[in-house]
Amino acid sequence: MGLSLKGLSKAYSNPQKDLSMEVLHSLDLVVETGAFVSLIGPSGCGKSTICNLLAGIEVPDAGEILLDGKAIHGTLGNVGYMPQKDLLLPWRTLLENVLLGCEILHKNKRKAQVEAKEWLNQFGLSPFADHYPHQLSGGMRQRGALLRTILFGKKTLLLDEPFGALDALTRQEMQRWLLSIWNRTRHTVLLITHDIDEAILLSDKVVVLSQRPARIIHEFKIPFPHPRDPDELLLSSLALDLKRQLLHLLIP
Ligand code: ADP
Ligand code: MG
Repeated sequence: MGLSLKGLSKAYSNPQKDLSMEVLHSLDLVVETGAFVSLIGPSGCGKSTICNLLAGIEVPDAGEILLDGKAIHGTLGNVGYMPQKDLLLPWRTLLENVLLGCEILHKNKRKAQVEAKEWLNQFGLSPFADHYPHQLSGGMRQRGALLRTILFGKKTLLLDEPFGALDALTRQEMQRWLLSIWNRTRHTVLLITHDIDEAILLSDKVVVLSQRPARIIHEFKIPFPHPRDPDELLLSSLALDLKRQLLHLLIP
């Protein structure tokens, strides 16, 4: 059960040169229900393509994607997706932005509002509900975008470098915050990241991808039990050892 990618292949054609570029070649990956899995790999290797395929925005050339045993490739709306450049709409307030998914799904507006306000409260964002994106800090905007993804109401979340554009300190705050959220919700999460500490801190499994076409070079099991204490965990000799191995694979 969970998310299962089987023999997934995808190539893009280049209309000018009439060439085909292979981005994924028969990729297999399993994300167990309730697990937090991170994907790390070089820029341009095909990570966002994997997310687009899982979200049904792109269609694979070969292979299949199963969610709890049901084929979902090529179909939208099965997972919550926070794309790499997920910007809040500048003309909508924070509350209106996080309600966007509910509007698309035609959920009961009043009920959705009540739910959204509860979440904003839990996320410490209540005082900013009526603020516009330009009035929010980078961290708040990313929290808003993530909240919008969660309110889409799916048990599986795809997060494509959600904190990539934030400064190091804010990023650490956000990682700790995401960890606490996940401890409560236990979503099935596939996170794309470039940040090794982030991957070790949050994940049950870290999958390292090769250059394009993305192959799995190695899967690291991250054996720390939940709930996790970030500071203690990241300074433990086990985490440092994992970090050394990951660095070695990524920067040989
Ligand atoms: P990553 O997220 O790992 O940085 P992407 O999955 O975004 O990589 O892209 C992998 C490769 O596929 C890149 O070379 C990119 O230019 C190319 N690519 C991605 N999407 C498209 C598309 N829609 N059409 C053509 N080429 C694409
Ligand atoms: Mg990407």
